[in-house]
Amino acid sequence: MDPLTCPKCRSQFVRRVGRDGAVERLLSVAYVYPFRCQICELRFKRLRWGERYVRVELDRRDFTRVPTAIWAAVVWQGRQSQGTVRDLSVAGCWLEIDAPIPVGELLRLTLEPEDEAPIHVEVAEVRSVQGGRAGVRFVRVEPVHRERLCQTVADLLTAAPPASPPG
Ligand SMILES: [Zn+2]
Repeated sequence: MDPLTCPKCRSQFVRRVGRDGAVERLLSVAYVYPFRCQICELRFKRLRWGERYVRVELDRRDFTRVPTAIWAAVVWQGRQSQGTVRDLSVAGCWLEIDAPIPVGELLRLTLEPEDEAPIHVEVAEVRSVQGGRAGVRFVRVEPVHRERLCQTVADLLTAAPPASPPG
């Protein structure tokens, strides 16, 4: 079977995602499954004739987060701190940070990848906190920065070891 590529940006970094609602559950019986492009975020369905995906995803995240170490400036409620991005996707990241930031807090993030222009995330929301790490979802990113973010994630995915087969 042909490897899947994204119909919009042609990226090969697509990931099988959870089915949404009764229609998609029915479709999956007919081998039509939902996928999510890891680069441009497009969600699309494809017929994967004869492929059965066993449900193993414990979390319902649609995006693979790639391990990395990117320095980040963090601003919230008029306070400033520094952190390190440990896992990054186009939709969010895990942020290592000393300052205790509560769940639900809105942040402004500036990622500073080495030798590259900074990436500003205008609004990010803290979704979870776990021993010095904050799980952050990107809420608003200006298009030019979104583009840089996508490029950075694409580079990381390209450099990362091959992902295990969809599960
Ligand atoms: Zn795409």
